[in-house]
Amino acid sequence: MQVKLFDTTLRDGAQTEGISFSVEDKIKIAKLLDELGIHYIEGGWPGSNPKDIEFFKAIKEIKLKNARIVAFSSTRRPGIKVEEDKNIQTLLEAGTPAVSIFGKSWDFHVRDALKTTLEENLAMIRDTIAFAKKAGREVIFDAEHFFDGYKANPGYAMKVLGTAEDAGADVLCLCDTNGGTLAFEVQRIINEVKSQVKIPLGIHAHNDSECAVSVSGMAVYCGATHVQGTINGYGERCGNANLCSIIPILKLKLKIDCVSDQQLRRLTEVSRHVAEIANLPQSAHQPFVGRSAFSHKGGIHVSAVVKNPGTYEHIKPELVGNERRVTISELSGVSNLLVKAEVYGVSLKKDSPETKSLIKTLKELESQGYSFEEGEASFELLVKRTLGEIPRYFELENFKIETDKQGDKPAIVTAHVKLKVKDKHFDATGVGDGPINALDNALRKVLEDIYPEIKSVKLTDYKVRVLNTEAGTAAKVRVLVESADEKAVWNTVGVSTNVIEASWLALVDSLEYRLMRK
Ligand SMILES: [Zn+2]
Repeated sequence: MQVKLFDTTLRDGAQTEGISFSVEDKIKIAKLLDELGIHYIEGGWPGSNPKDIEFFKAIKEIKLKNARIVAFSSTRRPGIKVEEDKNIQTLLEAGTPAVSIFGKSWDFHVRDALKTTLEENLAMIRDTIAFAKKAGREVIFDAEHFFDGYKANPGYAMKVLGTAEDAGADVLCLCDTNGGTLAFEVQRIINEVKSQVKIPLGIHAHNDSECAVSVSGMAVYCGATHVQGTINGYGERCGNANLCSIIPILKLKLKIDCVSDQQLRRLTEVSRHVAEIANLPQSAHQPFVGRSAFSHKGGIHVSAVVKNPGTYEHIKPELVGNERRVTISELSGVSNLLVKAEVYGVSLKKDSPETKSLIKTLKELESQGYSFEEGEASFELLVKRTLGEIPRYFELENFKIETDKQGDKPAIVTAHVKLKVKDKHFDATGVGDGPINALDNALRKVLEDIYPEIKSVKLTDYKVRVLNTEAGTAAKVRVLVESADEKAVWNTVGVSTNVIEASWLALVDSLEYRLMRK
């Protein structure tokens, strides 16, 4: 069975609160979708948005390997000729090989939203599809509100599908526009509908009942061969059906070869990259592709997963390009420590002096407020430092920071750093818009000449948490730094009563981690 994937991240997904794609953003996303093996990319509604017209112009210059570009439009307006409808003219001017045309299939909407007759609505559907077919387009007909319409007036909803089919549509896509339909209802309705139509059925589901993925999977299970959705489930209100879940479900569970194995392994990367372009954080708990989707925390789960990952994983994470993580909140227990060390390729013996010394250090650090769950790179460094597996790449002799604030002007911060590197002494001064930025600049001034590989390290996130220390007199802070280069992302942690000192510790770990990795 062949199933076609239809992505609408650039049209329905762009309706997400907080998302605003530029034309360049849309081009970047289209390229990623093409490489992922998506069959149709809906680029926008040219009749409603001039930015979308620009996209259709720009995408023509780009050679795509897999995908067909689709332009979206409503049917013609009531009471006018299709060839005189500006919206439809603009749709065809977009010059795409395929178009998706949405029409009303719920009588209530025809009367109350469109304010026209049931007959005129059918004529609008017929005229628009026939016109697009005559212009040589592949036509996907989106039957808006189909499931609600079918429940209210099945006779009319079927008339809408019949009209679209007779007018020459290539696919009838059934939409759960309000997202309120459950999977068992979709099963019943598609089973009733499919015997009455001859052309392929599709599904377009919204997530208002958190059932969009399950509704889409059910539609395919019942015979639909065209699935619409968005990357990361972006879309208005609660979003659209999430292709990052639908694709692995089709491929790995329903055994439908919609993308290649290789393309499936790019899924996590595409999800993260599109989130980055959308400027939204990717949810850690997103199934299949989220950072926590295969992370195991503590106790029975971890020891079972170490023996056999299948005990607590429904698929192998590498199939979708994700990875297994073991997160342990309390590392100062011997068995937790041994499990975690093994993940880093360090084998510790239960009663060895090294293990005992590590446990002692960890107990001390945990009581100070360290938590390594979000600073795993710091933990790995700590283990390897204690075991003497890595050298000291550099040592601090002294740093000093000055803040100069004059009148209304922004403050300027200067950091002076003295370091010992390979038994030689160095000093440097860095300027920045804040103390951490100034320290980072000074540190790099010394280190980049000696260790050029840190040039590509970027600090991508910086968080400060005030720790709730009921016992102490001064509040401690925990600083978390996220760093990245072209190959990896890593997290480090520092704790102190002084936010600059805590930041320094996390910053040093970030650079040492990169040096350790070479
Ligand atoms: Zn929609």
